[in-house]
Amino acid sequence: MDGKNQRQSAQPAKLAIVGGGAAGMFAAAVAAERGVPCLLFERKARLGSKVLMTANGRCNFAKDISPEQFLNDISRGGIAARCAEFVAEAVRECPPRQICRGFQSLGVRTKRMTDGRIFPADEKAATIVHAFGDLLRDEEVPIITNCPVKEIERIAGGGRARLRVVTRNFSVEAENILLATGGASYPKTGSVGDGQRFAQALGHSLVPYRPGLIGMETADPRVVRLAGRRFEDGLAKVLDETRRVLFEYRGEVDCERFGLSGAAIYNAQRFIEHWMREKDTAARLSAEVSFGRETVRLDSLRPRPLKESIVTIGGVDTGEVDPHTMQSKIVPGLYFAGEVMDIDGPTGGYNLTLAFATARKAVASIAKKEKTP
Ligand SMILES: Cc1cc2nc3c(=O)[nH]c(=O)nc-3n(C[C@H](O)[C@H](O)[C@H](O)COP(=O)(O)OP(=O)(O)OC[C@H]3O[C@@H](n4cnc5c(N)ncnc54)[C@H](O)[C@@H]3O)c2cc1C
Repeated sequence: MDGKNQRQSAQPAKLAIVGGGAAGMFAAAVAAERGVPCLLFERKARLGSKVLMTANGRCNFAKDISPEQFLNDISRGGIAARCAEFVAEAVRECPPRQICRGFQSLGVRTKRMTDGRIFPADEKAATIVHAFGDLLRDEEVPIITNCPVKEIERIAGGGRARLRVVTRNFSVEAENILLATGGASYPKTGSVGDGQRFAQALGHSLVPYRPGLIGMETADPRVVRLAGRRFEDGLAKVLDETRRVLFEYRGEVDCERFGLSGAAIYNAQRFIEHWMREKDTAARLSAEVSFGRETVRLDSLRPRPLKESIVTIGGVDTGEVDPHTMQSKIVPGLYFAGEVMDIDGPTGGYNLTLAFATARKAVASIAKKEKTP
């Protein structure tokens, strides 16, 4: 047999997962569990670089709430209804408590905080990444690290393989490809917006990026004077021009040299970004932040840059992805999971849960498709 014939008779991969972060590792684990042969490509030399950074290395991977509460929290204050609607089925089928039980079944002891946030008991994100690593090793899932995917190609003509994963040194044909390449923040962790670029080249629309869950700048001397101080019981309010309160969140407020950060600020900033995007109005918002004995008003709302943000607002337009399968409505066989899509949640474990739940949904629908003659 010559080389050409050998190539022609080679089997395409059933599933190629691009990106070994939260969504990609979870997807590979679900594929192993459901008997879907897959291989995993990761740009960096190791899996889960961003997961290792979560919650200051402690990994708040879920919250002990019902799926309905989860969906309400995502869209609290009347924002992000489209996101909540898109992820609803995925989250109901893979609710936070099930994710927690899943990690426990892998031998990860977990710890619940009084506010419901769930962490590994040793508060080490590495425990979560190792749990995935051990499972994928035991299941003999091929993992190709240090291998940035350069392009996804559509293959014209017959056969089941319609797609090709292209890397610098080789390419792999696949019946299904799952893009789990993450958002565009913290690019050093490997999420640089590649999946969005691949999707766009294949005909998908992108929703412009905005920073999500990030600090806001202010030179107010009361903040600058307290730089380095943390206030557990802070309060951030978002107000419209008539001083009506549109959103408020009680939680941590941290004074920094650049301005304010902490959970209350992050959630208020996320609300502001979504509100401005969705309401399409010139109305100006302001924020009022209370910490200790101070109340500071922010009239010019300046978030820190996207590269520093916890999550990326924007990405692959969910209107072009089937919420029942996570499959592209444009390219058959192309699937999405996690932050590569225009989905995001508040702080508190929501974003990892979104990555896991959408990954499970995608692989479950591929498994179902494979069983259907
Ligand atoms: C500082 C920080 C703290 C956070 N804390 C929390 C928290 O406590 N709880 C929470 O729920 N969320 C938290 N998040 C958010 C959470 O980490 C992300 O939402 C989540 O990791 C998204 O998962 P993902 O799989 O979509 O993307 P990622 O986890 O970013 O994974 C994407 C992977 O794809 C790889 N990749 C990209 N392009 C290519 C390519 N071309 N070829 C091959 N591989 C590629 C990347 O290297 C990366 O490993 C935090 C984020 C940050 C930055």
